[in-house]
Amino acid sequence: IFKSQQPDISVPWHLPIWTWLFDSEYSPLRKNDSRDIKGFTNAATKEHLSYADIKAHSTHLSTALVKNYGLKEGETVSLFSPNTVWYPVAMFGTLRAGGVVSGASPAYGVDEMTYALQKAESKVLFTVPSTMEIAAAAAKNAGIPKERIFLLEGTLDGYKTMSELLREGIAHGDAGQIPQFRLPQGKKNNQVCAFLSFSSGTTGLPKAVMIAHSNVIAQCLQVEQISPTTLRRILAVLPLFHITGLVHQLHLPVLLNANVYMLPSFTMETMYKVVEEYKLEEMLLVPPILVRMTREKELLKKYDLSSLKRFSSGAAPLSAEILEQLQKIFPQTATGSDDTGFKQGYGMTESCSCITAHPTSKYNYKYAFRVGTIVASTEVKLVDPDSGKEVGLNERGEVLARGPQIVMGYLNNEEATKATFDEEGFLHTGDIGVMDEEGLLSIVDRAKELIKVKGEQVAPAELEDLLLGHPDVEDVAALGIPDDYSGERPKAYIVMQKDKRGEPQEVGKRLIKYVQEKKVRHKWITEVEIVEEIPKSASGKILRRVLKDMAKAGKRGV
Ligand code: AMP
Repeated sequence: IFKSQQPDISVPWHLPIWTWLFDSEYSPLRKNDSRDIKGFTNAATKEHLSYADIKAHSTHLSTALVKNYGLKEGETVSLFSPNTVWYPVAMFGTLRAGGVVSGASPAYGVDEMTYALQKAESKVLFTVPSTMEIAAAAAKNAGIPKERIFLLEGTLDGYKTMSELLREGIAHGDAGQIPQFRLPQGKKNNQVCAFLSFSSGTTGLPKAVMIAHSNVIAQCLQVEQISPTTLRRILAVLPLFHITGLVHQLHLPVLLNANVYMLPSFTMETMYKVVEEYKLEEMLLVPPILVRMTREKELLKKYDLSSLKRFSSGAAPLSAEILEQLQKIFPQTATGSDDTGFKQGYGMTESCSCITAHPTSKYNYKYAFRVGTIVASTEVKLVDPDSGKEVGLNERGEVLARGPQIVMGYLNNEEATKATFDEEGFLHTGDIGVMDEEGLLSIVDRAKELIKVKGEQVAPAELEDLLLGHPDVEDVAALGIPDDYSGERPKAYIVMQKDKRGEPQEVGKRLIKYVQEKKVRHKWITEVEIVEEIPKSASGKILRRVLKDMAKAGKRGV
């Protein structure tokens, strides 16, 4: 077992998240002068909500949700929206009421959103005008009445807006505000769910991951410990529904009393503008955005990015070539001093973000290809995937992790929970890693099914389920194949229906279009290969290794 080299953190087990951030000794509102309270800013419109505003708004919203709309403790509120400064209002309002927050990608179609609402058993839905059509259809499918669909921002006939909800809350008067959520008698914050985020884990369809109040608190304390003390301005371009955004763009900044800059619509230019305007020192990104930074060099010249001192990346593997380029393009990030360089975080939704990350002393391109050292109060075990035996330094093994950030399990899915979280409390990540003498972990392979496209999850089972429903398809397997830009892209191996032996080209095109009509963009299959049969084990499980080798052998499909 490899242990963290960091001093242990001490988790306040008696505090729920809202109290912790807004009404405890950890709160920036207690620690700082009221004139120095930071907050969330819409970088395009300059709309700004300070953490004091967030506290007040979330108080009023929680009151309206409970008193006017009957939200109960433990019930789920779904947030279906691009990044906006009103997202944290809905999120913290829900938490203050003792509700559970579930974020969903704003790019989802009706079927995907219906699935998310049903799996999370959502009772309330917040969205924005641009996604209302899909939100309304999905809510209908999931049995959420129209009166419980609200607008985070903007206006639309027939739907309550955030400002109306806040007015309804305020109307109850100071004495009429509901009390902040307290943990039930005898329960600690690791027994109470705060978030339901989606992940397919090591196998199967996306599942609702139960993230406890303590998981988020512990992870923030773990990351705070290794963050530069000067980190006061944070770029928030990663999606808020994903675990990285949830922790690093919505919670950690409040704890640090740092300003967060959000972009309502992401483009490389709007992102550079924010860095230039607010003199950001750090950019938290995913590999595909870093790839674009190195490819679109002309664009860089238009902006003054000299404030930039370091990059931070996670969610997917990084290539050595990109690291080399970044160093050249941004020499000020490669000075070798502790506050410049490159850091990675490695973890998964099931570990509430980081298992490992680079501490300031390791912000160096020399270490950047590895994913950092073990965060505080966390243990990592590497085991041989076949024998289950522990392996030593410099040997490959599946990464198992135990610590206060490891989540509660999957909602309503004991089987998957048991398979992923073992009796000793270790999370089985499905990633293959190597630990070196310096305590730095490298991720060298992925043993699980998961496909990662631009840092976002694609569950092969989801594509396989969909394609099996198509009349041309007898059998199918989906696989991620390497892609310079996206990291991976989905490919489907298809056995055609016997009586439908059309032109493979035609079938391929039809299937690609079919997926495009049903699924969000990052799940689109980019290639179809017609095969005689799908390699399977005696028990009928798809042999993904064999498929991977076939893909490597280089046969190209349609
Ligand atoms: P998610 O739950 O969406 O965050 O996906 C988690 C998975 O993303 C991990 O199990 C890894 O396979 C992959 N991943 C996350 N961070 C990294 C990283 N820094 N390097 C390589 N792969 C990563």
